[in-house]
Amino acid sequence: MTQHLIVPSNPTPNGDLHIGHIAGPYIGADALRRAAIARGEVAAVLLGTAWQQTHVLLAARRQGRDVLAVASEFAAQIEESFAAADIGYDVMLRHEDMPSIEQMTRRAWSTLRELGMIVVRDSVAHYCSPCRAWRFQGLVAGRCPRCGSSDAYGIDCEQCGLYHDDAELLDAVCAVCHEPTELRPLRRAFLELEPQRAWFEQYLGSITLGDPVREYAESVLSEALPSVAVTVLGGPGIPALDEELPGQTIYPAFELAPRYVVMTARHRAGSAYEPARTRTTMVFGVDNAFERVFLFPAVLRGLTETHAPFPDVMHLTYFYMLDGAKFSTSRRHIVGVAELVGVAGADAARLYLAANRPERSPTNFTRSAFEKSAEVSAVRRLRAWADTGEVPPGDEDSSRDPCIELEHAASELADALRPESLSCQNAARAVLTLTGLAGASHGDRFRDAVLKVLVNGAVLVPDTAARLASAFAVPRTRFDGAAQRTSGGRG
Ligand SMILES: [Zn+2]
Ligand SMILES: [Zn+2]
Repeated sequence: MTQHLIVPSNPTPNGDLHIGHIAGPYIGADALRRAAIARGEVAAVLLGTAWQQTHVLLAARRQGRDVLAVASEFAAQIEESFAAADIGYDVMLRHEDMPSIEQMTRRAWSTLRELGMIVVRDSVAHYCSPCRAWRFQGLVAGRCPRCGSSDAYGIDCEQCGLYHDDAELLDAVCAVCHEPTELRPLRRAFLELEPQRAWFEQYLGSITLGDPVREYAESVLSEALPSVAVTVLGGPGIPALDEELPGQTIYPAFELAPRYVVMTARHRAGSAYEPARTRTTMVFGVDNAFERVFLFPAVLRGLTETHAPFPDVMHLTYFYMLDGAKFSTSRRHIVGVAELVGVAGADAARLYLAANRPERSPTNFTRSAFEKSAEVSAVRRLRAWADTGEVPPGDEDSSRDPCIELEHAASELADALRPESLSCQNAARAVLTLTGLAGASHGDRFRDAVLKVLVNGAVLVPDTAARLASAFAVPRTRFDGAAQRTSGGRG
């Protein structure tokens, strides 16, 4: 039996989750997990909040509080938001896991250092004279040297997602005092990727990449692979303990693979685990593409003796916008998870966010479009059906054969939630079709067949599926996309 490990981005505990997060990695991870279980397979979502990010440090500094206290408060809110959206997970790393994360990070570090993949050399980095402090990651903002976007900081650009060295950041300013930074010499450690080109070409060529991930990987591989700075001075994180790097800590994103190893070890401890039958799927936002597609596997190469499997499938999502602008926790330009769930319930929120998930390009949320949406209306109709027993109004279109439509919708629903062909948009569309077919005047046996698919396959609306199951005593059976063939007959 296939065992699925599903690894979404780690939420950053510098604020609560908002619906943009759910619409990205998390509804995808939850749907993959539930659909695998519906097929009779084993699946686990592995999570942990990224308390080591400088964004958390900045949030703590604004509140004048300890960084870990702030992180654990937001981590608790994040877990409440997951629960509100009915998003499940099997492993959640918490602060008590820090010693294991540190141990695994050190192990990767020393292996890669011995293999010569991590090298120490002289470079330059941003220093803020007024603050008398080095500035890395979220503590230095500027323009991207690759695409010119002003939505760049540290080594990250939220616009193009391509890697740049932090010293290349243009018009850099300190994120604390907003004064320009200056470049000063600094001896740092770098993870060399270009010498690993053949390995990356082989690895990325042998696994399943969603089209946007493949395009991204090809664009990065079309140039020399970067030399990635993996230490900072004066930031949060794990001390490098390297005599050539006094006082430096290991770059937070370096911890992603060690954290994943700790998560898989935790998962193994609680269940039968067969590496040969394990399939790992990573789902992440476009802004994490470099970290996930290149940095993560490169660091995991330093941990091969742990037998944590390399990802077999990778999918990314684009930004979800709110009223045409990016979600922003600091500018309070957000819609909270509880707010949306409060308006229409968890299932309606889930189905709508799935249908509008930014899978091929950025998509946009407006409150009015949500309230008037076909998804909210479909969930209402299905729940009224379960509550009253009255068949929902159907989509009467005599030009199509309902039996064929049912078969198509059932197989589309199952295919859309397999790791290699993940599309929450397609799965949501299939649920809408099935809702319409439930009301088609095509006989009780046909309606029973529709119900069976909804109850066992509509994992995007789990509570509604459970209500239908109990209202109409529909048995739970494995769902792999086959709809029972029915022979029409009006009645
Ligand atoms: Zn850029
Ligand atoms: Zn400053």
